[in-house]
Amino acid sequence: MTMNRRTISFLLIPLVVIFSWAVASDNDTTTAQSQSVATASESDNGEEEEYVPKTKRELRNDLSPIQYDVTQNEATEPAFRNKYWDNKKDGTYKCIVCDRDLFTSETKYKSGTGWPSFFAPIDKKNVGLRTDYRLFYARTEVHCSRCKAHLGHVFDDGPEPTGKRYCMNSASLKFVEKKKDETPKQNE
Ligand SMILES: [Zn+2]
Repeated sequence: MTMNRRTISFLLIPLVVIFSWAVASDNDTTTAQSQSVATASESDNGEEEEYVPKTKRELRNDLSPIQYDVTQNEATEPAFRNKYWDNKKDGTYKCIVCDRDLFTSETKYKSGTGWPSFFAPIDKKNVGLRTDYRLFYARTEVHCSRCKAHLGHVFDDGPEPTGKRYCMNSASLKFVEKKKDETPKQNE
């Protein structure tokens, strides 16, 4: 018994020392880790929820002159001389600046105006509206709700079911064609 007690205390003392040292250093690492995790999750959330606007220089680099002029200065590209007015392919029209999904081919229709026209956006919250007095009458300007890129205007002479005509500039849009293997999903 005596030997056992001695042996136990002999073993216990260094164990306690090692244990408390381990706990102390573990606490340090845990704190450091949780700090770095917190920083990482903050920036992750930030990227998801808050859009970091591109600088003018980045926009100039990323966009063609007409894309820059339309999205940043609310210019209008010429009718019938733009990329998508007659595009009949199935797919999604995204924002040229920030990639947000804006319209799909399912709501695109032939308006005869020479600009790509849709009767509805992919989701109302993806576009923002503002009254525009640039011409002699008030128009409703349409922009990307995330990066504020100018897209075009919306008018009340569109087809059913909305009666809206989203008259868009091709220069504000990036068309991504639907892959063929996505078609069966639609028919399900
Ligand atoms: Zn955008």
